[in-house]
Amino acid sequence: MCFVGHPSEIRPPNRKSRLAPFPISVYSVCSVGNSSDTSQLPVAIIGGGITGLAAAHRLARQGRPFRLFESSDRLGGNIRTEHHPDGWLLEAGPNSLQLTPPVAALLDELALTPLTASPAAKNRYIVRNGSPVPAPASPPAFLQSPLFSLPAKLRLFTDLARRPRNRTADISLADFVGSHFGHELVDYGLRPFVSGVYAGDASQLSARHSFPSLWEAERTHGSLIRALAAHLPDGSVELNAHVTGLVPGQPWKLSWRRTDADHAPHTASFAAVILALPAASLASLPIGAMGERPLADLADVSYPPVSSLFIGYKRNQVSHPLDGFGMLIPPAEHRSVLGVLFNSTLFPGRAPADHVGLTVMTGGALRPDLAHVDDDPLLALVQNDLAELLGVNGDPVFVRRNVWPRAIPQYNLGYERFLDVIDRAENAHPGLHIGGNVRNGISVPNCLAAGETLASRATEPATEPSSQRS
Ligand SMILES: Cc1cc2nc3c(=O)[nH]c(=O)nc-3n(C[C@H](O)[C@H](O)[C@H](O)COP(=O)(O)OP(=O)(O)OC[C@H]3O[C@@H](n4cnc5c(N)ncnc54)[C@H](O)[C@@H]3O)c2cc1C
Repeated sequence: MCFVGHPSEIRPPNRKSRLAPFPISVYSVCSVGNSSDTSQLPVAIIGGGITGLAAAHRLARQGRPFRLFESSDRLGGNIRTEHHPDGWLLEAGPNSLQLTPPVAALLDELALTPLTASPAAKNRYIVRNGSPVPAPASPPAFLQSPLFSLPAKLRLFTDLARRPRNRTADISLADFVGSHFGHELVDYGLRPFVSGVYAGDASQLSARHSFPSLWEAERTHGSLIRALAAHLPDGSVELNAHVTGLVPGQPWKLSWRRTDADHAPHTASFAAVILALPAASLASLPIGAMGERPLADLADVSYPPVSSLFIGYKRNQVSHPLDGFGMLIPPAEHRSVLGVLFNSTLFPGRAPADHVGLTVMTGGALRPDLAHVDDDPLLALVQNDLAELLGVNGDPVFVRRNVWPRAIPQYNLGYERFLDVIDRAENAHPGLHIGGNVRNGISVPNCLAAGETLASRATEPATEPSSQRS
């Protein structure tokens, strides 16, 4: 599913909002004096990605004043749509998101209609022995699928006889799934999926933190961004505002500098602060009168690089029917490419007539070097894989590359040490609320849910701090 829209053009609303029309003075609080009653002060949201926007939307619905600071000149963070001449339309970051009930409810609130994937995109291909094979979508299809051997299929049945198990220590996702279903399912089921979702390494990812529902099961048994932005009150969003420090207290003091003009420093006071930032930004943010960095350890969170290459061909240059969502390539196949999305099958309007558009991901935890290879050699490697796997011939007619030097945080083994750092910072500083993909799950729906939770926590009367792990 994706949403029609143009996040790259998103700017804060410059019209009267229909929701929560706060008096303008609320947004121009600068150097408010030390008042003991801070409950009337706005909440500061730092980070204008999907987490920060979801928090802002929730606060606006509650009629609670807030101010959102985003260091770049656009909202959306990782979510960015690009329109190119001649009919090419691509996503620089996420291409789709799962329509969970909370996402559906939010879309309803925003009067947005989700753009669902075309029925033609029903197949998910996984490469085995050099050929894309449709991934089985049902138990009978699994039994008939050439993707897995007979012993691998039989292994699935032995798992049904297992007793519930209460593990005390975390293990890697690969070992976890392997212990239930065997190593063939790890190589041709789990590993390509992990590469496609996390750009990660299943031997490093923690089973407990990356798939908490699996862990729990064993124990017990138009544009989303633009719509969110459009519903925010006038003056509540400050772009080109890089937050440089926080001083905890009642009120919280926040400092920022403009990134576009004179770089002049600014300060303002807030009742509470929401941090919706990636790990590196959290790690470098001073929080304390002496410039302390309580989140400095988050600099060690692993964020492998990913290169997203959108490639356009004439339809007759590709012999594969492209009748699917895309194709995942297990590491065991020793290819350069992590996965390929069949964009023009998935959603309409991605490529001009009689052309197809594909998004090819390279890099990730297992081959980070392939995210940074120069354009021409990378294209040559990718073309080689596409020729063999999808029957592509000839040069592409359109190429656009986006490199994400720090793409997706990896919930690797031992990740609880980072969650502890976040818990400790919150516990030490009442009024500080931290969330987003570094803490609450990496998907867009996870981040939307995190933003909503952050907003409600920021408006609750101060209570005993607790761990907010999900
Ligand atoms: C290549 C790629 C593909 C993906 N594909 C999918 C997918 O298909 N489906 C899916 O569900 N998820 C996908 N994801 C994951 C998902 O996009 C992210 O987890 C999510 O968008 C993160 O949102 P966020 O708001 O937490 O953080 P971000 O989007 O990182 O936003 C944080 C914002 O904070 C700002 N900022 C940083 N420091 C400061 C500061 N000091 N002051 C002010 N502002 C600051 C940044 O400029 C940024 O805009 C993908 C991610 C990537 C990179």
